[in-house]
Amino acid sequence: RSYKRQMMCRRDIDNLSVPFLAIYESLIPPQEEKLKQKQLLALLEKLVCKEWPMARLYLYGSCANSFGVSKSDIDVCLAIQEADMDKSKIIMKLADILQSDNLQNVQALTRARVPIVKLMDPVTGISCDICINNLLAVVNTKLLRDYAHIDARLRQLAFIIKHWAKSRGVNETYHGTLSSYAYVLMCIHFLQQRQPAILPCLQGMKTTYSVTVDNVDCAFFDQVEKLGEFGRHNKESIAHLVWGFFYYWAYCHDYANSVISVRTGSTISKRDKDWTRRVGNDRHLICIEDPFETSHDLGRVVDKHSIKVLREEFERAADIMQFDPNPCNKLFEPY
Ligand code: ATP
Ligand code: MG
Repeated sequence: RSYKRQMMCRRDIDNLSVPFLAIYESLIPPQEEKLKQKQLLALLEKLVCKEWPMARLYLYGSCANSFGVSKSDIDVCLAIQEADMDKSKIIMKLADILQSDNLQNVQALTRARVPIVKLMDPVTGISCDICINNLLAVVNTKLLRDYAHIDARLRQLAFIIKHWAKSRGVNETYHGTLSSYAYVLMCIHFLQQRQPAILPCLQGMKTTYSVTVDNVDCAFFDQVEKLGEFGRHNKESIAHLVWGFFYYWAYCHDYANSVISVRTGSTISKRDKDWTRRVGNDRHLICIEDPFETSHDLGRVVDKHSIKVLREEFERAADIMQFDPNPCNKLFEPY
């Protein structure tokens, strides 16, 4: 892979925005789905507060970060202070509480890396995962949502990339490919790098929002409505950005030496993070720094085999965007 392919000019690229925007529109959850999610959250709150009046429920993940497509499951975090109970006991008890109501398939997964209760609400048809005290995820959800409000192209790009990743089977962390969260960070990073930039670096600006969670200081500028139209000097169309995104990950990113970092709005060197070799199961073959848990590489699930799959998929997509007269069909072809 010593070559860097030229990103050739494709004159008709902007015309391709029409089909991409149509795909984006078709993935947006309808208002009634959002209402049903709220309805389910209210039911869960009622049940939980009967047992634990001081507990709070927060939505996080794609149902709250604005990157959720239609018919997604919802992610809920139970914030609770129970000094004398460990997480798996809370999970068991929570499952018990919810079992008694008419929720379906209530399961306590106490042995998972992140212990959760899973359930399905037959009234709304929505499935839900509830975790305990994972407040960093609630904060990174807010960061992603705030970024989405700065420029509409981020949400469009992320929907298209998530849709591509699901279609191509590269959105499965248990098979060594990347999480949706990782793909959204890759999109934010990419838009921070455009010239002129489409997104700023919120963690590099004046702090207007600050919390400390699990000993991690989370601080950033969150008054995004005051940024005006930040990306207005950049006129790149969505089709151009989809093309550029795949081109970037196929031919421009330095996998051997660079870590992408939304926190700094740039890339940093693997050497500075000591991510140059395999430690335990973390291979650091593609490095994506978590914006708050900076010792956490979201690419750590990627192994020797899946890095090859991923890079071939980026190249395939970049080539389709480059040469195919009608790229949407082939790009999202089931694998
Ligand atoms: P999907 O639409 O595919 O469900 P999602 O945004 O809910 O997408 P997930 O990968 O299911 O994405 O993750 C849910 C949330 O959990 C993320 O938005 C993020 O807040 C948090 N999260 C997921 N993976 C990690 C991780 N490795 N480290 C920290 N937080 C994570
Ligand atoms: Mg989710």
